[in-house]
Amino acid sequence: MRIEGVFDYDAGISAIDSVYDRRLQTAIHLIVEKGRAAIVDTGTANAVPYVMKALEAKGIAPEAVDYVILTHVHLDHAGGAGALMARFPNARLTVHPRGARHVIDPSRLLAATLEIYGEEAMRRTYGEVLPVARERVIETPEGARLALAGRELLFLDAPGHARHHVVVRDSRTGHFFVGDNFGLSYRELDRDGRQFVFPTSSPSQFDPPVLRRTIERMLAHGPRAIYLAHFGRLTEPQALAADLGRLIDAHAALAERHRGAGAERKRLLAEGVRSLVLEEKARQGWRIADEKLLEVFALDIELNAQGLESWLDSRGKS
Ligand SMILES: [Zn+2]
Repeated sequence: MRIEGVFDYDAGISAIDSVYDRRLQTAIHLIVEKGRAAIVDTGTANAVPYVMKALEAKGIAPEAVDYVILTHVHLDHAGGAGALMARFPNARLTVHPRGARHVIDPSRLLAATLEIYGEEAMRRTYGEVLPVARERVIETPEGARLALAGRELLFLDAPGHARHHVVVRDSRTGHFFVGDNFGLSYRELDRDGRQFVFPTSSPSQFDPPVLRRTIERMLAHGPRAIYLAHFGRLTEPQALAADLGRLIDAHAALAERHRGAGAERKRLLAEGVRSLVLEEKARQGWRIADEKLLEVFALDIELNAQGLESWLDSRGKS
C-alpha cells in the first residue's frame, strides 16, 4: 500500500517525510522487525502526526514501538523526541552520552537554537520541545548494541558533524543510519537515477578532518546502502564518498580563506557556500534552474556558513 510521504525500502525500512522546512527535506526512518518498530530521528514536534499516520497505515500499534533512536540532538532530528515518546508507552529513547542531558532538559538546546534562528522562527519551526523522562533514556556510546525483536542495531560514536552524533548499523542489512554524517542528498537533484551529495556543516561542532575519519570508518563496514536524514536512502555510498570528501575539503578551504575577514566573514562564507552549490550543479549536470536550486539549498547555505564560522571560532580558542 502506498502512503503519501512514506517511502518503503527493503527489510522493513521506510522513510517518513517530516515536512520540515519543505517537503522531502528531512526524513524520519522507521525499522520494523516481526511487528516491533524503531524510529530513527523524530523530526520536530510538528512531525508527530506524520509518524502516527504512517504507523497506523502499516498496522503498527503505538505499544509496538520499542525504540526512538536519535542520531544526534540537533532539533530538526530530535525536537519532536519528547512529543513522540509521549505517544509510545513502551518505547525507550536512545541518544549519544553527550546528548542525553539535552533531551532530559532541553533548555540549553533551545537557547542555542534561539541564538541561531531567533524567537519567532524557532517557535514556528520547532513547536513545543518537550523533555523526555530520565528513566526512559538509554545512552548509546561507541559499541552499544540493542535488539529490535532480535535484530541487532550497533552504535558507533560518529563525531564530525556534531560531537553528540552516533551512526547505527543494522545487522540484518548491513546498512547504516547516518543522520547528518554523510551530507545532504535531495531527491530533486537525482539525474537518471544517479544520486548526489553535499556536506552539511551546520553549527556548532562541524570538524572537517574528524568528519572525514567518521565517514571512512563507517564505509570500512562496506554498507551497500545508507539512510540520510536529508533525505532517505543512498544506494552507492562508496562511490559518492569521493564527492563528499572533495566538498568537505572545499568547505574547509573556504573557511580558511575568510578566516580573517572580520565583520564581512559571515557574508563571504554564505556567498562561498552558494558558489559551491552552483559549481556542483555545473560539475554534476543537475537538471534544475539556479533559482530553484538556491531555493532548495537556502536553509543549508545559511547553516553551512554559520557552522564554518563556529569551526573557525572554536579553533581560535584552542
Ligand atoms: Zn545536524
